Amino acid sequence: MAMNQPKHAPTTQFSVQDHCLVVGGIPLTRLAQRVGSTPFYAYDRQLISARIRSLRQHLPAGLLLHYAMKANPMSAVVQHLAGLVDGIDVASAGEMKVALDAGVTPDNISFAGPGKSRQELACAIAAGIVINIESEYELETIAQLAGETGFHPRVAVRVNPDFELKSSGMKMGGGSKQFGIDAECVPAVLRRIAQLQLDLEGLHIFSGSQNLRVEAIQEAHEKTLQLGLQLASISPVPMRTINIGGGLGIPYFPGEKPLDLNTVGVNLKQLLAGISPSSPDVRFVIELGRYIVAEAGIYVCRVLEKKLSRGQIFLITNGGLHHHLAASGNFGQVIRKNYPVAIGNKMYIDETEIASVVGPLCTPLDLLADRMELSRAEPGDLIVIFQSGAYGLTASPTSFLGHPAPLEVLV
Ligand SMILES: *Cc1c(COP(=O)(O)O)cnc(C)c1O
Repeated sequence: MAMNQPKHAPTTQFSVQDHCLVVGGIPLTRLAQRVGSTPFYAYDRQLISARIRSLRQHLPAGLLLHYAMKANPMSAVVQHLAGLVDGIDVASAGEMKVALDAGVTPDNISFAGPGKSRQELACAIAAGIVINIESEYELETIAQLAGETGFHPRVAVRVNPDFELKSSGMKMGGGSKQFGIDAECVPAVLRRIAQLQLDLEGLHIFSGSQNLRVEAIQEAHEKTLQLGLQLASISPVPMRTINIGGGLGIPYFPGEKPLDLNTVGVNLKQLLAGISPSSPDVRFVIELGRYIVAEAGIYVCRVLEKKLSRGQIFLITNGGLHHHLAASGNFGQVIRKNYPVAIGNKMYIDETEIASVVGPLCTPLDLLADRMELSRAEPGDLIVIFQSGAYGLTASPTSFLGHPAPLEVLV
């Protein structure tokens, strides 16, 4: 980090040289030439590796670390992470293919998500990966397919817990949900799995996403472990793993602070130390998407035109919500807030102005920054949106208005 970082430049893990952002050791202006066109997404492999090292350092030693690849399914990213984590969690047969192509052992791939088609289930059974069962109906379909093929499906039960993850950006457990099997119905499902002689991997309990509050995460971990161990104790078949979900958040908006990973790790160590003697054979898994990749990625687009409308400056770019829906505020946010944005080739200059960054789509929703203080920009300059390594390109409506899709590079 440069000493003279002005307050309008966002705090990032990327370094800056001669006012230019550096990604994977390459100045952004040169990287843009190397990529050959804008807009593009760039992910920094060193930053991803550093994040994994930090997780390994802070989390309990025996805890298995999985990457939930829907956060960023770029094959090069998955390939890179395949060598660093203990498993990959996929949410479709398409993602399963990427994980298998990356060389991940089928035992270390698990497949969650409601509405798996019969064909997807058949592919997953043939591949030999772990299928997280989301309903009784899905269980019976798997049993039928096992009978037809003679393969032995490996299954885990996704549990819809009887509690919610507090302060979570997106709740995915507790109450009535399309995800998982309600906790109170799980004992019967475990008996049915035993009766069908399916290979039981264990449980999967995922309660939510994007949480920055240590106390809420700790409470969820405590309740999740309690529920998991209680269900394991009554299971007619022993369990190998209990996946306790993830939900670790990253700071996006002004006032948000990075998660205190050290405290999360210390709490988890205490919780696991307290229970391991009674269940020595069960291993625990944490599954993270956003926390692993989000801060290692940027979205880059170019200023096409600078327009003044009744005193307000608009930087009109070739990028927009069709590539980066989340930065436009339309991917689950209740109130639109600006992602951290900067002029990537004018990082730490003193002349600033209040400008809005918009895209080329004919809708006012195509807004990437709303009246932000930015370095003074001109056509040709590179706009950078930080915290874009997760839920970026593949979470965006790329066909909307028919512009070309952006490229992605792992540097
Ligand atoms: C989406 C998802 C994740 C990843 O969530 P992040 O907030 O990106 O860490 C993990 N597990 C399951 C089951 C998911 O659906």
